[in-house]
Amino acid sequence: AALAALTLTGCSTARSASSSSSSSVSVPKGSTIGVALPAKTSQNWVLAKAAFEASLAKAGFKADVQYAAATNTVPDQQNQISGMVTKGDKAIIIAAQDGSQLGTQVKQAKAAGIPVIAWDRNITGTADVDYYVAFNNYKVGQLQGQALLDGLKAKKASGPYNVELFAGASTDANAPVFFNGAMSVLQPKIDDGTLKVLSGQTTFKQVNTDGWLAQNAQTRMSNILQANYGTATLDGVLSPNDTLGRAIIQANQTAGKTVPVVTGQDSETASIPLIMNGTQYSTIYKDTSVEAQAAVDLVSTLSKGDKPKTVLDKKNNYNGVKTVPAVELTPVLVTKENAVSAYANNPTLEALAKAGQ
Ligand code: BGC
Repeated sequence: AALAALTLTGCSTARSASSSSSSSVSVPKGSTIGVALPAKTSQNWVLAKAAFEASLAKAGFKADVQYAAATNTVPDQQNQISGMVTKGDKAIIIAAQDGSQLGTQVKQAKAAGIPVIAWDRNITGTADVDYYVAFNNYKVGQLQGQALLDGLKAKKASGPYNVELFAGASTDANAPVFFNGAMSVLQPKIDDGTLKVLSGQTTFKQVNTDGWLAQNAQTRMSNILQANYGTATLDGVLSPNDTLGRAIIQANQTAGKTVPVVTGQDSETASIPLIMNGTQYSTIYKDTSVEAQAAVDLVSTLSKGDKPKTVLDKKNNYNGVKTVPAVELTPVLVTKENAVSAYANNPTLEALAKAGQ
């Protein structure tokens, strides 16, 4: 019943949102669509450019895809988005480097009648973001939390288990949502003593990873091992993605420790062999092409003057000012057990899974 209510609310808001926009917004076929991507800190962003170019071309639009630079990343992305507005791109899709720093730019877009679609990462603190297209981030976190428990159980029939927690960057609106989803599964197990966190670091503030950078996770893991696991065994680590997961694995190997159960996300090509040989326990599959296609479908819908089908999901998509009407995709948990079938739609990933069987 709760789900039905949620969906109904979603529909009614989507209707009012699009009726106001269809009168003022025009996204003609053949026009240029801006796509502002963050710095290439993980493989999903690298794959995104080609995915958008293919989907936009197929839908009859021109693509203007830009990455934020590795340094001065936030101002670079701000300038790119302002440039897209000035050039007259007819819709702008944004994967934010820092979702809280784009208020001015999306306001400019709004003033020019250009629809703004937040992609993968929400844009926060503003009413001027029209839509959000992403995987269900809270669900990603829940799957990660459950995978950690499953992996621990497979390794040792009963607890208590020593675990450590890692989250993504505080500048990414997704990072706390992933963490909250994971903690909805893990916190009860910490409370009942099944899980112990010897570092004592259990809040998002304590466990976030600046810039989603591997080096920062590796350093934090090394410090925790040094301070808390001289004799104790670390059984598992909640890692929010594959890039950080490999850094966490590396820190354990460098310290001469048995590698703990480590979770992940993104199905990166560098992690699939590690999953198949048992070094990393799990990842999440969020197909970047499907996610890009969903945003382009939304643009096509706007282009026809129709109203996109969206949901209002406060837990996932509240941006501090409003719950952004969203297209939510379903993430898939992947372990060694289901890797071959999970990647059946992707020849590269499927081949990696098969090679490791
Ligand atoms: C994305 C993840 C990615 C992370 C680091 C998040 O916003 O949803 O897929 O691993 O950023 O780039």
